[in-house]
Amino acid sequence: MTITHPMARWLIKQLNETESDYTPLTRRARHPRTSHDQDYILADVAAKRRVLERHPPKDDPTSLLWVCSTCRGRPQWPCPEIRDAASVFARRPGYRKEWKPDD
Ligand SMILES: [Zn+2]
Repeated sequence: MTITHPMARWLIKQLNETESDYTPLTRRARHPRTSHDQDYILADVAAKRRVLERHPPKDDPTSLLWVCSTCRGRPQWPCPEIRDAASVFARRPGYRKEWKPDD
């Protein structure tokens, strides 16, 4: 499946960059931290990828909105699950305040 929604593409970019930063070949140069940190971060990236796979955006031609393919009630995408997953990247360039999770 090709992801075309701009927020999904942005989130995938953040996941790819984070994964790249913490791969064994680059980790020491960029992030001299413990392997526990590396394992945790790579596992977290993988978990967020699975959340995105389970909650893909779907273009709804009847409403002209993007909706979640999975969540009940088909909330507008990004759904709460995706907003939570993306919120850890809120300080990175490109993050929009409208993606912030609801309190
Ligand atoms: Zn969802």
